[in-house]
Amino acid sequence: MFDTIIIGGGPAALSAAIYAARRQMKTLMIAKDFGGQMMWASAIENYPGYKSIAAAELIEKFSEQVKELGVEIKFSEVKEIKKLADDSFEVSIGNEKFSAKTVIAAIGAAHRQLGVPGENELAGRGVAYCANCDGPLFKNKTVAVVGGGNSALDAAEILSKIAAKVYLIHQFPVFQAFEHLEKKVRETANIEIILQSKVEEIIGDKKVASIKARNLTDNSLQEIPVDGIFVEIGFEVNTKLAAEIVKLNERKEIIISDKGETSLPGLFAAGDATAVPYKQIIIASGQGAVAALGAYEYIQLKSGNVQKVTK
Ligand SMILES: Cc1cc2nc3c(=O)[nH]c(=O)nc-3n(C[C@H](O)[C@H](O)[C@H](O)COP(=O)(O)OP(=O)(O)OC[C@H]3O[C@@H](n4cnc5c(N)ncnc54)[C@H](O)[C@@H]3O)c2cc1C
Repeated sequence: MFDTIIIGGGPAALSAAIYAARRQMKTLMIAKDFGGQMMWASAIENYPGYKSIAAAELIEKFSEQVKELGVEIKFSEVKEIKKLADDSFEVSIGNEKFSAKTVIAAIGAAHRQLGVPGENELAGRGVAYCANCDGPLFKNKTVAVVGGGNSALDAAEILSKIAAKVYLIHQFPVFQAFEHLEKKVRETANIEIILQSKVEEIIGDKKVASIKARNLTDNSLQEIPVDGIFVEIGFEVNTKLAAEIVKLNERKEIIISDKGETSLPGLFAAGDATAVPYKQIIIASGQGAVAALGAYEYIQLKSGNVQKVTK
């Protein structure tokens, strides 16, 4: 039986694994990948200790540390988490099952994709999903933002201060964003709004060179030269796995306490999958540490050792 099974391979899970292993907890990490959303980023410029680091290198550094600490790792997708009558957990990946005293769900989130040709091929090479993170890479360049909600308009506004020109492309005739945000965007000289148009293709060899957008009113197709495209059509938390056993908020995020506890004792959560705001690597990492220490304390208290980890 493991002391904890950590589900996920993003910064929350990797940091939880480091903290759990350093507490001598018998730890299994089950992840579909190493890196999580960091795999979609190009350079990370807001992680303390590094002015700028390639996302791939930061993932490598996180995972090296986890491997050196002897954490058992399984690359797979967890299909089910069950709490058993004896208070332990059973975590299944298809036919294989593992048991643990605690589980840490660091299952994160995923941005919605456009699902058009060129998107996956050019991800991180002009196709971006986070204006706050990747915006500075497009200084004085031309970019497109796709979407019509608050995050798209916010991204357009952020990018208008960095890029020379921003196309804001939305498939409907009206935006679904705050009035003040829309007003600001409409008043910004270097933002060109293209409504009722749908991006159908992202073109480029080694990096994004242009996009093709279909005008939905007259069916015409126009090719717009751009250096980057920000897909801002929303995020989805990966919480289906836990939805039936823990309490979620209205955004389907896992509700946690300040020790990372979910509504199900012994099941902890961390990172973007939780209701904690400001989804960033440093925050997910911090929460991973909290969840691991929370799980450690839970085991200690259950085994009669009343000493708490934290004050
Ligand atoms: C394009 C982009 C650029 C970004 N740039 C920055 C930046 O510059 N700075 C910054 O601070 N933040 C940035 N972010 C945000 C940051 O990446 C996230 O906040 C952070 O990765 C969240 O970490 P997490 O571990 O909670 O979740 P995630 O990174 O989403 O990881 C979740 C992990 O869980 C795994 N998983 C999910 N379900 C299962 C399952 N059932 N079984 C097994 N594994 C499962 C996933 O495969 C993944 O490995 C960026 C995000 C994006 C999309």
